[in-house]
Amino acid sequence: MSNTEALPGALLCGAEAAGPAPAGIQILAPREVPLGGPRAMRVRRTLPQRARTLIGAWCFADHYGPDDVEATGGMVVPPHPHTGLQTVSWLFSGEIEHRDSLGTHALVRPGELNLMTSGRGISHSEVSTSATTTLHGVQLWVARPERHRDTAADFRHHAPVAVPLDGGEARVFLGSLAGDTSPVRTFTPLLGAELSVAPGAVLTLDVDPDFEHGVLVDTGELHLDGTALGPSDLGYAAPGRTALTLANPGRGTARLVLLGGPPFEEEIVMWWNFIGRSHDDIVRAREDWQDGTDRFGRVDGYDGDRLPAPVLPRATIRPRRNPPPPAQGR
Ligand code: MN
Repeated sequence: MSNTEALPGALLCGAEAAGPAPAGIQILAPREVPLGGPRAMRVRRTLPQRARTLIGAWCFADHYGPDDVEATGGMVVPPHPHTGLQTVSWLFSGEIEHRDSLGTHALVRPGELNLMTSGRGISHSEVSTSATTTLHGVQLWVARPERHRDTAADFRHHAPVAVPLDGGEARVFLGSLAGDTSPVRTFTPLLGAELSVAPGAVLTLDVDPDFEHGVLVDTGELHLDGTALGPSDLGYAAPGRTALTLANPGRGTARLVLLGGPPFEEEIVMWWNFIGRSHDDIVRAREDWQDGTDRFGRVDGYDGDRLPAPVLPRATIRPRRNPPPPAQGR
């Protein structure tokens, strides 16, 4: 997916404010962003935002749907570039056709991980298929640490088997949870899983105390460690916990995406679809895309023009750090 905000802010992320781990859950509410396309499908973005820019190396979280493709036109994202990151496409329903400059042509389907690693540069297109009536899923980005910034571009697919839990189910697409481990390699320790919680159930999940965690609510009612989360909210839990409790007080099944990782210590600069370490990195990546150099390759098979980069902000990129989370709730 491409960050299609008309004026994407330049963010300097990372180097989180130090301090004691808060006891409470911080609620990161979503904001609506038009994704683009003829009728502008909308997504609900929880990362990055003013209150928090990263959870582990997770640096971008869009939640969308259930979206009636007939009404919105679905997802139509022309070829666009990425650098310094990995993209995770995870669907609950629908189907997306992915094409990239590595020559990958893949169908993204519900419950299957599709992880693209940018290398120094990659480009891709994403279009919901004609068979799709309802599109529903998340798009997540992972920041890559400096020592792996030039590791080659890559595309990985993994369909995790559902792990039964007492009162729910887990699909672990990255990292380890509930006795299951994804075979897909990450550059920093990371957790990514879809979970469902049965009506009235309380799940207790053992987690790594070095990790901070985010719980992105998809459907249903959900309490994270006793704090109620609303639809599309991202609940943040600071490091230091050995377990997370997920309670569903509702009548229907609750579904969520659990993200985690140790706090990402490096400062990163994020603008449009690029992650770098300096303003100059971003300027160079933008120029390379606009000039059509071979850095980002070519996407074959997409019928249409590629996405031009937005105009760079005139202002110098300023550091942006996470304020310490509130002790409790909003
Ligand atoms: Mn993309």
